Amino acid sequence: MKYSKFTGIICMFLSLFCFGQDSLKTVTAEPGDGILSLIRKQGVDPYEVFDEFVTLNMENLRDSVHLIAGRTYVMPDVKLDTVAIVDSLQIQAKEVKEIESASYAIFGEKYKTVIEKSERLKGNVYYLVSGHGGPDPGAMGMYAGKAIAEDEYAYDITLRLAKELMAHGAEVYIIIKDENDGIRDERVLEIDHDEVAYPDKTIPLNQLARLKQRVDIINDLYKDNRGKYQRLIVTHVDSRSENQNIDVFFYHHEKSKNGEKLAESIHKTFGAKYKKYQPNRTYSGTFEDRTSLYLVKKTHPAMAYIEIGNIRNKKDQVRILDPDNRQALAKWISEGVLLDFEGE
Ligand SMILES: [Zn+2]
Repeated sequence: MKYSKFTGIICMFLSLFCFGQDSLKTVTAEPGDGILSLIRKQGVDPYEVFDEFVTLNMENLRDSVHLIAGRTYVMPDVKLDTVAIVDSLQIQAKEVKEIESASYAIFGEKYKTVIEKSERLKGNVYYLVSGHGGPDPGAMGMYAGKAIAEDEYAYDITLRLAKELMAHGAEVYIIIKDENDGIRDERVLEIDHDEVAYPDKTIPLNQLARLKQRVDIINDLYKDNRGKYQRLIVTHVDSRSENQNIDVFFYHHEKSKNGEKLAESIHKTFGAKYKKYQPNRTYSGTFEDRTSLYLVKKTHPAMAYIEIGNIRNKKDQVRILDPDNRQALAKWISEGVLLDFEGE
């Protein structure tokens, strides 16, 4: 199954209280509030309005996901056109609100609903590959006495990225996937080995066989989708450089102009985000061709290969273990993807 654009309309039944006027409901964030807890405190199911909340309040969010204490936020409007006046003590009208959305089990129970934000990527195909998986956990690290593995974190960021791209109408193929993980909000992501390769192939342990398998899958799909705009994004959480000061690496194929532009667009977005949200930190990501990497060399779609820090590095761990940061990283990559596509 591929994850394609919105196929259905869900009907949400909203309980009606007394929303007589059209004024926007706002709420002030207190120290310690997160988006989820703030929405929940308003008696609203945060998973129904999360994306809308982020869209409405983008200007007042740090890294696109963090609230700033003391600031005022607009609550998504559960607006109803008409108020049914019922001559009863139990005024409980129900109204149907139509929202373009669809459910995808791959994101897990909590995050399964993808709400359409735009059609900016409609018709585009994205192949997302998270590094390693199956019998190969990738780089390992330790956190709070527990073993942590690269593949689980790369996968979580990849799912979050997939959801973002799909919300903008893209057709997304999650090449390495785990049916029972979903998007996870824990710091320590439990290690398992049941990831498979699209659509449900066992991942071989041998490194070359493992890489060849995903190259073949991507190139076959690329052929099937001939004529469409297609891009590949590969995500790893293990830096191959010894230099601890470099934040994020972006690689592309030296001969691919489109790949170079994709990698550069994401790289530029990260640079801009650092400037805006962490002005005291210098962004030191690099952007270069790395045709020597097997996947970069052998795959046909224009591609960007991203290494988000090093899971063994304590400083990088802070960024990767915090689920909000994983969300921010995915959001930034998606914004780079939009910049790449629309900046043509
Ligand atoms: Zn890796």
